[in-house]
Amino acid sequence: MNSHYDVIIVGAGSMGMAAGYYLAKEGTKPLLIDAFDPPHSNGSHSGDTRLIRHACGEGYEYVPLAIRAQELWDELQQETTESIFRNTGVVTFGPRNSDFVNQAIAGGKEYSLPIDTLDNGEEINKRWPGINAPDEHFGCYEPEAGVLFSGNCIRTFRKLALQYGAELLTNTPVDDLAVAENDVTVQTKEGTFTADKLIVSAGAWNKKLLSELNLNLALQPSRQTIGWFDAEESLYQSDEFPGFFVDLPTGVYYGFPSIDGTGLKIGRYDAGEEIDPEYMNREFGIFPKDEGDIRKFLETFMPQAAGKLNVGKTCMFTNTPDENFIIDVHPEHANVAIAAGFSGHGYKYSSAVGEILSQLATSSTTNHDISLFSATRPSIQPQASKTVQN
Ligand SMILES: Cc1cc2nc3c(=O)[nH]c(=O)nc-3n(C[C@H](O)[C@H](O)[C@H](O)COP(=O)(O)OP(=O)(O)OC[C@H]3O[C@@H](n4cnc5c(N)ncnc54)[C@H](O)[C@@H]3O)c2cc1C
Repeated sequence: MNSHYDVIIVGAGSMGMAAGYYLAKEGTKPLLIDAFDPPHSNGSHSGDTRLIRHACGEGYEYVPLAIRAQELWDELQQETTESIFRNTGVVTFGPRNSDFVNQAIAGGKEYSLPIDTLDNGEEINKRWPGINAPDEHFGCYEPEAGVLFSGNCIRTFRKLALQYGAELLTNTPVDDLAVAENDVTVQTKEGTFTADKLIVSAGAWNKKLLSELNLNLALQPSRQTIGWFDAEESLYQSDEFPGFFVDLPTGVYYGFPSIDGTGLKIGRYDAGEEIDPEYMNREFGIFPKDEGDIRKFLETFMPQAAGKLNVGKTCMFTNTPDENFIIDVHPEHANVAIAAGFSGHGYKYSSAVGEILSQLATSSTTNHDISLFSATRPSIQPQASKTVQN
């Protein structure tokens, strides 16, 4: 093992492992360091699957990033026999005044994506008899969207990055970081390593690590739960049923068809206790609402999928106050790139974020428009977050 590298990546999860792959593929030698053994169930990428939508209800700015991410996922699929993506389609619906649904339809039109608008609940329910939407709901269906096998994606990035010359230290938390003008120093129990450049992509642990680099950002991790429920396979298996995102005034829910008989998977998007990742209770079911909340949604909107709970798991979001990501060069250190605050909707973009981070680490610039993700925007400074919360 060397002691000096071109780039050190602290946190080899969703974003960091992708960055390691793109750097190594381009001939740069990265050292990836992770506190666990990715993919793992302690951070933000556990639970096997993630939705990828292209007509993003989060805003127009996300659509080009989603389109590029999908291209990169398709390229990754060419390099592996592991399943990366399943084209199940994704349906998004809610009441007519849902900003999310309206934005998804507008974003799809703006970028000429294939997208079917669904005028009322009857149309939605007729197309997918497993859904029971009220007639006053409307929505859209993206036939080219679907499900990423996130565990397989991270495993594939890892395997290929190592083949292209990256090195990886697992089960090795980074204890300390120091940045000088021309190099960076990273301390771990396995020793001290130096590099020309640094990427910090430590998920829910970013706030603490970035504060060591004099960057205090409004990052708030929260505890999330997901459940897999016994479902009527003829209605909810992935050949028949799409991924879904449902924006209700009483809560926002997302989920996945039953993949290879595992049951319908569902989570809630807009709730979750604020936590410290060091001390989060990772046991599913400690709160009655862990199961109760998602079961209640299923009983109303997808009743034949409200069977026995097969598995329940916990995971973490790391929210910013405006729910936009932070992807930028450190404001004081041109040799440090940051990926943080992926706020519950980041996984789908991780291939494109890996590409951006690899560009930032090698040239301090990127050909992607990352102005929305600036580390210096007022809304993510700690003072601004207090104002938002009050
Ligand atoms: C239940 C759930 C469902 C989701 N569904 C979707 C979805 O359908 N679609 C979508 O696009 N997104 C979804 N997301 C969001 C997405 O999964 C996250 O935005 C994404 O995984 C965040 O990636 P990350 O790299 O920031 O964090 P992680 O993947 O957690 O990676 C961070 C890594 O840093 C490591 N680390 C931390 N501290 C240190 C340290 N000191 N030293 C070394 N390593 C360290 C950790 O071990 C970890 O491996 C979901 C998230 C959850 C929780």
